[in-house]
Amino acid sequence: MDEAWLVPGLAGLCGLAVGWLLNICSTRWPIDLSIISPGSRCSECSNAIRWYDNIPVLSWLILSRKCRYCSMLIPLRYPVVELTSGLLCAGIFMIHGLSWEALRGSIFLFLLLGISISDARFYIIPDEFSLGGTILGLMMSFFPGGIGWANAVGGALVGYIFLWFIAEAGTRIIEKISPGRLEEAGLDKAMGGGDIKMMMMVGSFVGISGVAETAFLGSLGGLVIYGPIATMYKRLIPFGVFLAVAGAITYLWGDAMLDWYLTRIVGLAV
Ligand SMILES: [Zn+2]
Repeated sequence: MDEAWLVPGLAGLCGLAVGWLLNICSTRWPIDLSIISPGSRCSECSNAIRWYDNIPVLSWLILSRKCRYCSMLIPLRYPVVELTSGLLCAGIFMIHGLSWEALRGSIFLFLLLGISISDARFYIIPDEFSLGGTILGLMMSFFPGGIGWANAVGGALVGYIFLWFIAEAGTRIIEKISPGRLEEAGLDKAMGGGDIKMMMMVGSFVGISGVAETAFLGSLGGLVIYGPIATMYKRLIPFGVFLAVAGAITYLWGDAMLDWYLTRIVGLAV
């Protein structure tokens, strides 16, 4: 292997393993199950899954997508999450090299991936990802090349307060326009508390301007892409998924976008 590929290659393998763990966390935490016991089981025949049948992506290919015992199809979601996690981790280490920032960035993207799966499947964002992630984000802001503690604390606060405000305002507006609409949908707020805590986590990683960009991009994506679909099929919006994608885009290209916006649109010479 060419040496230049060694770090991203190894990071990719670690990413695959983390993806395997994320699959477990994001399906067990939302329904308050332990991630340690019971061990992995087939959801159809309840046979324990042996370690050699539990290797990220590889086992799925070797078993030709089926449970060894009952031939139930293993959901495509599992290898896709593992592969995504591996590629993201390899990519971040390719950008930043073997560094603290690469570790910080990878952990942020892992959290966003875990949140996306939980929110898409259960409409729940586990506190382990949002609150636990906020603690990680604050701690890692001290890393060399990190965003610094003031920006991390500020970002977390802005993320929380901003989303809380939108949730409150959204609730009032919906209640005014069509009273009882939220109750009908079994909700008490226009936005889940999980989204609010999630944005606190995002802020602790990308800082004040980053969390604003994330909120803007996430809302835009939710409105333009999912809004029409949700209205047509009368489905709830897993808003966390859009915020997660927006958070990842902001981490990767946020500064470039902000520069572009300030110079081209606002006309400031930066
Ligand atoms: Zn089975």
